[in-house]
Amino acid sequence: MNAPPAAVSLREVGPRDGLQNEDPVPTEAKVRLLDALSRTGVRRIEAISFVHPKAIPQMADADEAWSRATKVDGVRYSALVPNSRGAQRALAAGFTEIEVVVSASDTHNQHNVNRTTEESLADITGLIATLHEAGATAEVIISTSFGCPYEGDVPPDRVASIVERVVADGADRVAFGDTTGMATPRRVADVLTAVRSRVAADVPLLLHFHNTRGTALANILTALDFGITEYDASVGGLGGCPYAPGATGNVATEEVVHMLHDMGIDTGIDLDALIEAARLAEEIVGRELPSGVLRAGPRTALTKL
Ligand code: ZN
Repeated sequence: MNAPPAAVSLREVGPRDGLQNEDPVPTEAKVRLLDALSRTGVRRIEAISFVHPKAIPQMADADEAWSRATKVDGVRYSALVPNSRGAQRALAAGFTEIEVVVSASDTHNQHNVNRTTEESLADITGLIATLHEAGATAEVIISTSFGCPYEGDVPPDRVASIVERVVADGADRVAFGDTTGMATPRRVADVLTAVRSRVAADVPLLLHFHNTRGTALANILTALDFGITEYDASVGGLGGCPYAPGATGNVATEEVVHMLHDMGIDTGIDLDALIEAARLAEEIVGRELPSGVLRAGPRTALTKL
């Protein structure tokens, strides 16, 4: 193994990816969660998505939740948008880091946005230009990067060719979504090897793992070995799998932080404050969240004799 990096940049996605895959919660609860997370020391939060309320009722109050949340200095907030209408809303709300999404597999893209991957990529070319003109950065998230619930394996070369294309279009960062938890260390290595062979080493890459099948931390360790230092995670493991009711969703932020800190890797996050935020997340969604560190506490929390 290569020496691990000194620091990792975690992006907390509970308020967006997490809550989008839970039953709708009141605006007030979203604001409380955002505010609690902003005080954990995390430096990046995916705060909200600007989507059509009919498509995703969980985000119908995006503007209101965002306007009421306390923005903390030093925290970078991002928003996810599906199209130019969403991009205009995100820009109007003051976001300067904006994520757009495309699926590596056609069938998933068709199900998601009713168009082919190619059609979405054509739109993204224009979206990146629009965001840059407005002074915002554009991140392209490639979902189903490690497998598609409809098509099965996705060729790593296909993922790499999408990366090459969006980087040529000016994408500031590329993220890889393990949308339904199909990634394994081997698949992560295959995708990163293919991507590295196509794009320059200085293109920022971010990995987004779901722990649906228990492989998320192993995937992160594999990616660390490739020098990847940006990861998404969701407080408490908030969220689920849209294709498997009841299944685990995003990797829990406190599980990632707990492991990284013990490896001597800095995240800037106060683990105790994060665990408090995970308790709040549980209270908000009214169910037990699947985080081992939330259940058992950190490994250094000794049992009293
Ligand atoms: Zn996700």
